[in-house]
Amino acid sequence: MSNRKHNFSAGPCTLPLSVLEEAQAEFVDYQGAGMSLIEMSHRGKHFDAVANEAMTLALEVAGAPDDFSVLFLQGGALLQFSMVPMNLLTPGSQAGYVNSGTWAKGAITDAQAYGDVYTAWDGAGDNFTRMPRSSELEVRDNTRYLHITSNETIGGIRIYEWPEVDVPLVGDMSSDYLSRPIPWEKFDLVYGGVQKNLGPAGMAVVYVRKSILEKTNRDIGRYLRYDIQESKGSMFNTPPVFTIYMLGKVLKWMKAEGGIPAMEARAAEKAGLLYDTIDQSGGYYNCPVEVASRSHMNVVFRLPSEELEAKFLAEATAADLLNLKGHRSVGGCRASIYNALPMASVTALADFMQAFQQANG
Ligand SMILES: *Cc1c(COP(=O)(O)O)cnc(C)c1O
Repeated sequence: MSNRKHNFSAGPCTLPLSVLEEAQAEFVDYQGAGMSLIEMSHRGKHFDAVANEAMTLALEVAGAPDDFSVLFLQGGALLQFSMVPMNLLTPGSQAGYVNSGTWAKGAITDAQAYGDVYTAWDGAGDNFTRMPRSSELEVRDNTRYLHITSNETIGGIRIYEWPEVDVPLVGDMSSDYLSRPIPWEKFDLVYGGVQKNLGPAGMAVVYVRKSILEKTNRDIGRYLRYDIQESKGSMFNTPPVFTIYMLGKVLKWMKAEGGIPAMEARAAEKAGLLYDTIDQSGGYYNCPVEVASRSHMNVVFRLPSEELEAKFLAEATAADLLNLKGHRSVGGCRASIYNALPMASVTALADFMQAFQQANG
């Protein structure tokens, strides 16, 4: 398909072309049913099979151990900012949060509405250009969980050393979901919106340790209770059928491509090419992030001036390299290179960056 452009959007973002084509081919008449999947009952046999397969694959591809359940919940990652403390922060306990940037800050703000929350490490002093080492974390007594953000989508930093702490972790993995192995033994709960690595927008995939569900808060609305969602197989109410359907296809694609090991290797290769291009530009391109913390999903960089950045973005767009503008809160440029973004798009960007520097250096 020659009219597909290079799409570096931070989310929603590029999905595998084969998945889009497969969905298109079966969209109007799903498996001879005479209607599309999104027109059917979510309790019927077609959707039942789709949802079961997506759940099985979500556990399998992630390598989740038997004591984890997977939940499909609407409200994206942002609702999890509230659901996590609502369910887990029982009276008398507190939660520690690693403040690593914009998204972590959002999680802290929401958690403060429900309980006793403190900052276990604060990256503000370094302008959120790095992640903490374990030794820098200050975990207090009586901490129910330590919340981390595995990849800060706006700052372009990622956790490179999973915290070594005595309390369970809760992780927002929205922007590097299933692009690297998850150390399950450390986590009670892992969540992320699907619209970066896993599918179209519309929900979060939440992995929850089953044994904690006996002790979660019960005095909250039913949709918000992990124990109820788990016991109903995420079918407590009408689920986002299209998102689940597409998620299943993306997971199947991931599995066929080699699963997390393949995604991780590709991400390292794609990110490596862009960071090499930046590092070899003699300072023309500049990545503000500490080297060890550099994200493999969101590569942020600056040019020598805002005028040159505007010119770079305009010419990139004209060359079909789209959505490279940094988040409005930080400016600059950002290339989001999630699992489904082809290497060819990254090569095209690296070539463009070199040519632009030569013409405007
Ligand atoms: C995108 C993102 C979110 C917000 O996700 P929604 O699904 O839109 O709520 C939260 N955390 C991180 C790290 C993100 O990248």
